Parts: sequence; structure tokens; C-alpha cells
Amino acid sequence: MPTTPTLLDTLLRVRGTVQGVGFRPFVHRTAVRLGLRGWVRNDAEGVLLRVHGDATQIAALVDALHHEAPPAARVVAVERSDPAADEQPVGSHFTISESDASRGTAPTATTPPDLALCADCERELLDPTDRRHLYPFINCTQCGPRYSLIEQLPYDRPRTTMRAFRMCPACAREYHDPLDRRFHAEPNACPACGPQLSLTDSAGQIVADSHDVLNAAVAALRDGRILAVKGLGGFHLMCDAANEVSVAELRNRKHREEKPLAVMFPDLATLRDYADVPPVAEKLLTSPEAPIVLIRRLENSRLAYSVAPSNPWIGALLPYTPLHALLLRAFQGPLVATSANLSEEPLCTDNTEARERLAGIADLHLSHDRVIARPVDDSVIRLSRTSQTILLRRARGYAPAPLRLPGALHETTLCVGAQMKNTVSVAAGDQVVLSPHIGDLGNAATQAVFERTIATLSELYEARPLVVVHDKHPDYASTHFAGRTGLPQLAVQHHLAHVLACLLEHEQPADGVLGISWDGTGYGEDGTVWGGEFILLEKNRATRFARLRPFRLLGGDAAVKDARRVALGLGHEMDLLGPLCARFRFSPIEHSTLQQMLARGLNSPLCSSAGRLFDGVSALLGLCLRNSFEGQAPLRLEAAATRAAGTRTVLPFDVVRAASPGAYLDVDWAPAISQLLRDPRGPDELAADFHRGLARAMVAVATEAGVGTVALTGGCFQNALLHDLATEALGNAGFKVLTHRRLSPNDNSIAAGQALAALWGLTSVDLPT
Ligand SMILES: [Zn+2]
Ligand SMILES: [Zn+2]
Repeated sequence: MPTTPTLLDTLLRVRGTVQGVGFRPFVHRTAVRLGLRGWVRNDAEGVLLRVHGDATQIAALVDALHHEAPPAARVVAVERSDPAADEQPVGSHFTISESDASRGTAPTATTPPDLALCADCERELLDPTDRRHLYPFINCTQCGPRYSLIEQLPYDRPRTTMRAFRMCPACAREYHDPLDRRFHAEPNACPACGPQLSLTDSAGQIVADSHDVLNAAVAALRDGRILAVKGLGGFHLMCDAANEVSVAELRNRKHREEKPLAVMFPDLATLRDYADVPPVAEKLLTSPEAPIVLIRRLENSRLAYSVAPSNPWIGALLPYTPLHALLLRAFQGPLVATSANLSEEPLCTDNTEARERLAGIADLHLSHDRVIARPVDDSVIRLSRTSQTILLRRARGYAPAPLRLPGALHETTLCVGAQMKNTVSVAAGDQVVLSPHIGDLGNAATQAVFERTIATLSELYEARPLVVVHDKHPDYASTHFAGRTGLPQLAVQHHLAHVLACLLEHEQPADGVLGISWDGTGYGEDGTVWGGEFILLEKNRATRFARLRPFRLLGGDAAVKDARRVALGLGHEMDLLGPLCARFRFSPIEHSTLQQMLARGLNSPLCSSAGRLFDGVSALLGLCLRNSFEGQAPLRLEAAATRAAGTRTVLPFDVVRAASPGAYLDVDWAPAISQLLRDPRGPDELAADFHRGLARAMVAVATEAGVGTVALTGGCFQNALLHDLATEALGNAGFKVLTHRRLSPNDNSIAAGQALAALWGLTSVDLPT
């Protein structure tokens, strides 16, 4: 006699990014397929299901929730519980029920990031029988703008910039049908009711008929013109990437000397004609996040020289909006796609503002009437040799997806980040929402975006922050802002914040960890410039265990641009100022001036910066004497080392008792520099040996510290070779190695680390005496 399986009545709570991403229709389809009864609905904590069926059916559903969810969804957890005894029994079908807005908790997880054009929409876009054929604003619950058009929360069309467009009956039907893939797709639109394209000159005069805009834009690009193109989170400047005259002109107009320009390719097949595309890069480029990925260009690729002068890498991306897809398809070749701004300023987002700010840069504006609520840059990723992703800029697609804190904060906390590569975060309960990349707070326009972003994120929690966390640097614009809020303040040491950001990602407690926190600059506990720090974390206390041997930064900030001055500062510590001045062709008078500055410490502050050490070595090897953009000299050093990565030798670094108070140990670079100056081999081999020597020194310090875990963080770990060598050497020596995955190693993550610092009350680094 067959046994009837016991029927179960169960609640399933799904947490993560599960609203506004087509999750309920997916659950409905799956439950019906499995023959389950019950319902699914949105509420303040995410999505709640009640299901009635046998154990096998329910297990299959849970499995599908984890593994078959729509691409835009991110399921963090599925928790099971029993329904309350007084709950209504489930009906005879599976239904999508109304959202439960009865409970007034804040909608913490409801702001999905902007997502790239999905495959279904792309198919419709190119289908001549579809009502959205060639419509550049097609979208659905799996794709399209989100964060960039939200004006207020909760995320609902009337509170987005789409409120200007009234849906036609056909669009409204899709929007309200729970089984349609555009059910509650807030930016839903079609040619009859949605945004429209325009092509104007720099004075705002229309230059093409509405039905001919794309053809006219393509013709202008073929003519070598430079176009401002309005995308998802801002404008790009675009021009023919194979036309040297156009690209050089773009650089000239944008005052951008050598920093590589990103290039958008029509599709993967075309990209393969220009660059080596490893499988991980392919996966990233075609993901809903669709970042810029740095990949190795092929020799003899037909890209204009000026795209990335003397650089083996290109920043490649694929079309991520329907407008880009149509434009690139019509152009049939790669286009430069660089942020439309003057260097360091925020992206242009507004049509009128774009015409003003891009006057003299863009010849034409390919634009539209969907308003961008706030700028969101393209995210940028590079890959290590072991195919680990290194986020260089965390923005579109990745932010503002929330991160989980290992405990709950008592008060809503605002973290204002650092100065360069600024981001901000708002933390409430056990969640922290980190903003997309904002930029360098050195100009008023970026500061305005910084303040607007803080206002937006604060609204996420419908609560005003009660505490503000900032960097210890007294002169960062973010620190000044924190002072103006009038809120209780918490100051967090910069390199400690880096380490905490890494621990946050790995849910690692502050105990038995050595944080290797290396970057260009950060305000140290002793008032000097730090940047080559080894921070020991034991029982929730931080100590500066070791540092790079301090040296003088000749001319202060001037040394950041002029790598030769850094080399002279290193040489001064080794009594080699004279020979190095001769090597860099400084005159005897300059030599004597520099000597006096160094001897008296005039405008030459002490630093322990790893970033500057890379600058100095790059100059000593003749690879780069001046940084025309941030990080150029270290990038050249890394590129040279990568060419000779097969070597097995090292430059010697000594790990010694610290020569002055402030740390237990110094990592002394002087033996490495002496060897480098004597060694007859070429710069590539020496650059490789320099990297290997540093990795070996890290192992020596970690061994002295007697910890089991090492966290690698700070801007220096954007260097893929250093990342790989350090990870490998420490791993081989038996350490557990933590590196950044979902967050960037650079200052983009300071505001995340600051949130964890607030939770743990861990803000300062103790100095051994
Ligand atoms: Zn779509
Ligand atoms: Zn419509």
C-alpha cells in the first residue's frame, strides 16, 4: 500500500537583494511547477513565502531559491520557520499577495544597483515585430536603471525620475501583471510613452530628426567628432577608438595626458580581435554589473595609440544600456567611452549642465529626457594572475548593495570616508550601505555630490544619523563636513579603517590578525604620513607592529607628482643624495638647496609610505620620473616586473628592531636600494626582484607577529603582481590570507571600515614606545 507523504506548512524568509528584481514572479512560477500551494509577498525584511507541500517539494523550492533566482537577485539567506497557530490556512493555489507595508521598519534592502541590458530585452530590442524594436530605453525587472533614478524611497515609480512619464495602457498592463516579466519594473517604458532620444550641438540646437538620431550620431563619429552620450549614471565622451586624430584631440580637450581611456566594444567577438579575454573577464563583462575590466591588449591591435599610451592594458567594457547597444551595433567598431568630466570633477548628469561643462570638449550631445537623479560612474576591475578580481572602483552595478556587520549598531551611523576616491556609508542595525565611488573631494562639484549622497543614503533608513565617523586627518574635506554636522564624532585612523574593511568582507574578528595596510598616504597616530603599515590586531586592540623605515618626502605634496624627489628622499637616508642628484641631473645649486631642506626637515615631512617607495624605485630604475596621473610610476614598475615575472631572485629587505619609537619593527628598504643601484641587470628583472623582496619581508613580519591570519589592504594591493606574490608567499608560509573581493583595496572602502570601527569601538592604533 503506497504511503501518503506528510504535508508540511512552512514559512520561508528570503533575505538579500530580492525586491524590484522579478523575484515574486520567479517564486510563483517555481512553486506552481513544483505543485506547491501558498503565497509569496514583499515586506520590510525582504520576501516572505508560505508553502504547503511535502518535504521533497519544499526542499526543491529552497534549492531553486538559492540556485535559480533571477540574475539581478542576490539571495543571502533562506530561513525556515513555522507559521503562527492563528494564521489563515493557505488557499488551493499559489498566489502573489499584496506587499505587507503594515510593519514600519525601514526598507533596508530595497535599492538595487543599476543593471546592464538583459538578454531578454536585447532580443526584443532587435526583434522587428516587437513593439519596442530599436527602442533605446527598453528595460525589465532584470535590467535597467535603479539607484541612478531613485529620488526617494521606498523604490516606487512616483518617487523616481520616471514619474515624468505616464505609462501607456500596454505598459501599465505589464507593470500590474504579476506574471509579466515587467511586473513592477519601475522604469518600464515604450516608444509610445517613454523617454526619447535627441541629438543637439553644443548650443543645444537640434541637429537630427527624432527618427534619424542614431544614424546622425554614427555619421558624426565616423567623421571623427567627439560625442557626449548620456548613459545610465552620467555622460560619457565617445569617439572612434581607431581614429588617432580623434582620440588625441579628446585627450587634448579633456586635459588628460596619459591616463588610459576606457573603450566600449560592440560585443565579445569584436573585443577578441583587440585583446586577450580570459574566461573570468568574459564573465564579468557580460554580467548584469557590466564593469570596465582591464585586460591585456593584443600586439598590433588597431586601437589608436592615444587610447592607452605605452600601456599593455586596456579598460574594456561592453554596451550596458540599450542606447549603447544600438549605437555600437550601428558603428560596428570600438568607441572610446570615458567619463564626461574634467579630471577629478564628478560626472555630468544633467543635459544643460553637460552643455555648459563640456563646452569646447563635446561636438555633439546624444542625449535624452530621462533625468539622472545622481551620478554613478562605471565600476573598474582588474584581475590577478590567479583570476581573483581586484575592484579598482566600486560603483555602477555593485553599489549600493548592502553589506552585513557582525553585530548591530545601537545608533544610525554616518561614515564620511577619506578624501581621494571618497565614498560614504550609512550603517543601521547590522547593515551598512556603502555609496558608489564619489571621487576626490578637492573640488566643490564633488563635494556637492558627496553631500547629496549622504542625504540620499540617510533616507534609506528614514532616520537621521546620530553619530558621524570620519578619518583622523584634520584637513580632509570629509573631516570638516563631519564637524559641521554637529553630531557626536568618532575619528578612525586611516590604515586601521582599511584593515577593518577587509575584516568586514571576511566576517573575521579583530583577533590574531596582522593587517598589512599599504597605500600612498594617510594620517598617522604620531602626526607623520603613514602608508607602509603592519597593524597587529589582538583582542580588539590595534598596535602598529611594524612599518616601512621612515624617510623624508622632499617638498611634501610636490613629491607625489615628481617621483625623482621621492628617490632623493630615500637616497638621503643612505647618504647618497649627491650621486642621485647627479643621476637625475639636478644642478649643484639645486643639490645644495635640497640637502638643506632635508637636513632641516623643511617642507619634507617624514613618511613610511609604501606607495611612495614604489614611486622612488620606479624613478631609480628610470621607468617613470613623473606621475602624470595618480599611480603611474607604480604601474610602470609593476608592468616592468610582470615582463620579468619568471625570475626567482629577490632584493633584500631587512626586518629589524625599529630605529625610533612608534613601531616594534622596521622593514628597512636600504639594502634593497643599494643592491638595485649596483646590480647590472635591466629594470624589468630588478622590478620583479623588488616585488619579491617585499613579499618575503611580509612573511618575515607576519612570522614575528605570531598570528595565523594576514589581511592585505590599501591602494598598493591594486598592484596585481604584489597581490599575487604576497598571497602566494604568505599562503606557502602557512598563513590564512584575506584580500578584498567585494570591496576595493583602495580608499573606496574606508567608509565601510569606519562602520566596523564604530561597531567595535576600535578607532586608534597604539604606538609601541
Ligand atoms: Zn531586461
Ligand atoms: Zn508604453
